Amino acid sequence: MVVVGAGLAGLSAAMRLEREPVVLVERDEAVGGKARSRNRDGYTFDVTGHWLHLRDERLRELVFGLLGGENLVWLERRSTVRLYGRTINYPFQANIHGLPWPARLRCLADFALARLRKRRESPSEMRFEDFVVGRFGRGMARHFFLPYYSKKFRGISLDDLRTEWLKDYFPMPTTAQVLGGALGVRQDRVGYNARFLYPAEGGIGVLPAAMLAACRNRDGFSLRLGTSLQEVDLAGKRLRLSGSPEWFDWRVIVSTIALPELLDRIPGLPPHIAEARGALRSSAMRYANIALRAPSPMVEHWVYTPEPGIPFYRMGVYTNAAAAMAPPGGASLWVEIADQAGPVDDSDILDALVRIGAVRSAADLLFMEHHKVDHAYVVFDKARERAVETILPWLAEAGIHSCGRYGRWTYGSMGDAILDGFSVADLVAESS
Ligand SMILES: Cc1cc2nc3c(=O)[nH]c(=O)nc-3n(C[C@H](O)[C@H](O)[C@H](O)COP(=O)(O)OP(=O)(O)OC[C@H]3O[C@@H](n4cnc5c(N)ncnc54)[C@H](O)[C@@H]3O)c2cc1C
Repeated sequence: MVVVGAGLAGLSAAMRLEREPVVLVERDEAVGGKARSRNRDGYTFDVTGHWLHLRDERLRELVFGLLGGENLVWLERRSTVRLYGRTINYPFQANIHGLPWPARLRCLADFALARLRKRRESPSEMRFEDFVVGRFGRGMARHFFLPYYSKKFRGISLDDLRTEWLKDYFPMPTTAQVLGGALGVRQDRVGYNARFLYPAEGGIGVLPAAMLAACRNRDGFSLRLGTSLQEVDLAGKRLRLSGSPEWFDWRVIVSTIALPELLDRIPGLPPHIAEARGALRSSAMRYANIALRAPSPMVEHWVYTPEPGIPFYRMGVYTNAAAAMAPPGGASLWVEIADQAGPVDDSDILDALVRIGAVRSAADLLFMEHHKVDHAYVVFDKARERAVETILPWLAEAGIHSCGRYGRWTYGSMGDAILDGFSVADLVAESS
């Protein structure tokens, strides 16, 4: 069995395929994918904050079993939105008392109007704009949701921004919570991430590292790091890896790499699959890891920054979740930047961090390093669902199970990726 990609989906599939010999192939020099952590000079960084929300009992068992309860910390979310020079508790829609009065009244009136209209369409069939206007009113849409999600965060047009990705991830306060929040009652418990887990040390990368150790504990497992899937010959059931002209036979492939990249490695796609592949769109993102030689004055775990004057759309402070993410007296932070903004200068980032109170003085900076994530967010436009429903069964028929967040070309958490790896492994084991 060949498993391609050693992110959480590939690792969980490899763990679960206990009775099969498994070769796990990973392009990077370390496992973890988006859940990998990096350490530099005692400062630890994830691929931006990776918090664990383990809503499924199987996930809790797995994660606590692998890491041990003493190595995990439960955290009560401290998150805000910075808007009009104010600090508004997250989620915005349940805490509009933080807005200036005229904006708060406009949002409240429009919310009441939206509730009176009680739009009946199912959110999954809607454009994002229709959904937020219908559910929360035009005021909240105009002040936060549309500028943040369409322009600043995703960088895609409102026509292309649909709602299928929202699922459980969009905080949906009740009418009473929105009204309470408008009148000044803080709503801290709204949303899937009001409470979350994070490793006490080592960043989120300790989770994939523990999954790898579990795979290594059994017979028939081998890992090839720094090795990329190059080409898949469907008819001949052979594949080629980087660094070798040799062809390897395969019966079943579990692939967790981005779906378009997998298809690009299969020569001679039938026209309907090539056409569906052409419809798969994603947006990349950039992020910067920031090491401070002094503590950060900010108390939040993460902060949303929708205003155009700030070059990043979200930032956070790792050391507010786990002090061990930096040497004593220091702090480690990240900022997230939409790719369409292009590379941003360190000085502009630092200046904005000082303005929002995340960094006391530019002199506190020890280093800043920049990274890019291709395909960070799948674009849920009108064409996506049909394309994915065309491609995945065709691949499965040929013996390739594409899974994980990017293999399924979807939106999901670390928990979703792990569960997906498990279910694909079960499917493969049943059919062998
Ligand atoms: C910015 C951001 C923030 C996030 N924050 C959170 C959070 O707070 N909480 C949460 O639960 N989830 C979060 N997520 C989601 C989470 O990271 C993913 O759901 C999960 O890590 C996906 O795992 P995966 O194995 O499906 O994919 P990946 O992690 O992408 O793994 C795919 C692997 O395939 C490898 N690969 C690629 N091409 C090849 C090739 N040709 N040959 C061999 N190997 C290859 C890659 O190197 C990678 O290791 C976040 C995601 C992003 C982008």
